[in-house]
Amino acid sequence: MRVNAYAAPAAGRPLVPITIDRRDVGPDDVLIEIEYAGICHSDIHTVNGDWGPQPFPVVPGHEIVGVVAAIGARVTRHRVGDRVGVGCMVGACGACANCRSGDEQYCLRGMVATYAGTDRDGTTTQGGYSTHVVVDAGFVLRVPDAIEPAAAAPLLCAGITTYSPLRRWGAGPGRRVAVVGLGGLGHMAVKLAHAMGAEVTVLSQSLKKQEDGLRLGADAYLATSDPATFSELAGRFDLIVNTVSAVVDVDAYLSLLALDGALVNVGAPAEPLSLNAMSLIGGRRTYAGSMIGGIAETQEMLDFCAEHGIGAEVEVIAADQVNEAYERVLASEVRYRFVIDASTLR
Ligand code: NAP
Ligand code: ZN
Repeated sequence: MRVNAYAAPAAGRPLVPITIDRRDVGPDDVLIEIEYAGICHSDIHTVNGDWGPQPFPVVPGHEIVGVVAAIGARVTRHRVGDRVGVGCMVGACGACANCRSGDEQYCLRGMVATYAGTDRDGTTTQGGYSTHVVVDAGFVLRVPDAIEPAAAAPLLCAGITTYSPLRRWGAGPGRRVAVVGLGGLGHMAVKLAHAMGAEVTVLSQSLKKQEDGLRLGADAYLATSDPATFSELAGRFDLIVNTVSAVVDVDAYLSLLALDGALVNVGAPAEPLSLNAMSLIGGRRTYAGSMIGGIAETQEMLDFCAEHGIGAEVEVIAADQVNEAYERVLASEVRYRFVIDASTLR
C-alpha cells in the first residue's frame, strides 16, 4: 500500500512530502487510518541528528491515533472501526525477561522503534506523519472514547513517558513533585501528578507560562532564571521529573531534593549531562532515567486519563506546517503539543 507522508530527507533538512510503502496486513497486524500524529521533541532530535546517524529519509511520528481499517486473521484484541493508538514502539521479542515483565521498551534484543527502527522483516520503520500505518496488534492501544482523538495522540509518548516515572517513584498524596520544563512532556507531567494527588511545582525558565501551569494543576510555579528559586526550594522535593531537551545544571536540581529524593531524567539532550557525586551523597539522593513505558502500562495510563478527564493541550496543524512547528518547539513556544491532522495529507 503506497501512502502519503512527510519525511526528513537528510539530517537537519526541512521535512518534505513523500510517498512510502506500508507492508501488507499480516495475520497479526492492524491497518490504522491515522487521524492525528503528535510532534514530539524526539522527532526533532532524531531528524536533526542529535542522537547520531539515521536511515534517511525518516518519517517521524510516534504519537499516533486513528481508526482500525483492517485486521489480520489472528487479531482478536482490535476490531475494524475501533479508535486506537500507537506510541514509540511497534515490536519487541516478547520472550526476554524484560518483555515478560511488561517492560518491552527495554527488550534485551532491542525494541523496534516506530520510526527509524529496524522491523522484524529487516525493513526500516516509518512513523505517523502519514495517512496509514500497519502495526503488530500487540503494540496497538485502545483509545477510550472519553478522550478527544487529537488530545489523545500526545498521550502515546508524552503521556506515558511522564506517567511511568510518576508511578514508579510514588507520586501521590503527601508527596512533593517538581516538573522541570513546561513543554509537551512537562505539561502532561503536571496534569498527571496533580491527578495522582501530589503537590506539584513547575520549574520553568521564566514566568511566561505561569497562568497556564497553575490552570493545568500546578500548586506553585517558579522561574529557574531567578537564583532565589534554588535557595527557596532547597531540599523540598521527593521527586523531580526533568523534561528539558537541553543540558541543565543537574547539581542545582539535585539540591532541591529531600532525603532519599529522586531526580528522574526523561529529557534526552544531544550533549552529555554531568553531576558532582557529592550532590547525591549528601542526601542519599537518586539520579535516574526512564524511557516511555510498557504496553500494559501505556493502556493503564490511557484508562487513567479517561477516568480523570485528562488529554493533552494541543494545537492542531496541517502537515505542511510541520517545519514551522519544529521551529516553535525549538524556541520553547509550543503550548503544549503540536498535532498533525493527517486528513491534510490525503
Ligand atoms: P518540548 O515540548 O520542547 O519541551 C521541553 C521544555 O524544556 C521546553 O518547553 C522548555 O520549557 C524547556 N527547555 C527547552 N530548552 C531549554 C533550555 N535550553 N534550558 C532550560 N529549559 C529548556 O519537548 P518534549 O517533547 O516535551 O521533550 C522533552 C525531552 O524529552 C526531549 O529531549 C525529548 O527527546 C525527550 N523525550 C524523552 C522520552 C523518554 O522516553 N525518556 C520520551 C519523549 C521525549 P520552559 O519553557 O518551561 O522552560
Ligand atoms: Zn516522543
